[in-house]
Amino acid sequence: MKRAIYPGSFDPITNGHLDILNRAAQVFDEIIVLVAVNPNKKFNFSPEDRVAMIQEATKDMKNVKVDFYDGLTVKYAKAHDAKHLIRGLRAVTDFEYEFQLASANEYVDESIDMVFFMAHGDKTFISSSGVMELVRNGVDVSKLVPESVIKRLK
Ligand code: ADP
Repeated sequence: MKRAIYPGSFDPITNGHLDILNRAAQVFDEIIVLVAVNPNKKFNFSPEDRVAMIQEATKDMKNVKVDFYDGLTVKYAKAHDAKHLIRGLRAVTDFEYEFQLASANEYVDESIDMVFFMAHGDKTFISSSGVMELVRNGVDVSKLVPESVIKRLK
């Protein structure tokens, strides 16, 4: 069985994340969406809320599970018998960051590989921080995030 991990902040999950997840779920037998817990980083939503929003948004995807973790993703992957990490690429700026991350991961454990999906054209501008900025300015974001997020933003 080919299991992959899709790690990220998901603060909150967006339709951009869901697009990557849908496509990755067709390539791997099982995907674990792994919500990053970092006590030194300030998030908009608690880990529990971020997990719940993803669970609700993916309830019809039978091969998707959700978990949270506060250590190195490659270690989580190893412990859960997954050899691939999924990430999404939007712009050149994502590439630089992801390339650095991939190199660091390789240094920690070279048996874990990263798999990248290019953002679809209409999703390239969607980011969690951008969504929150729009929300703070009273813009309707219902086309950018799933209903489980809209519910909690209200
Ligand atoms: P992190 O803080 O780890 O970057 P994010 O939740 O911001 O966590 O993103 C997780 C992954 O999803 C990253 O690889 C990011 O590039 C990707 N991603 C985020 N938004 C989109 C989008 N609109 N289209 C494609 N990939 C995306």
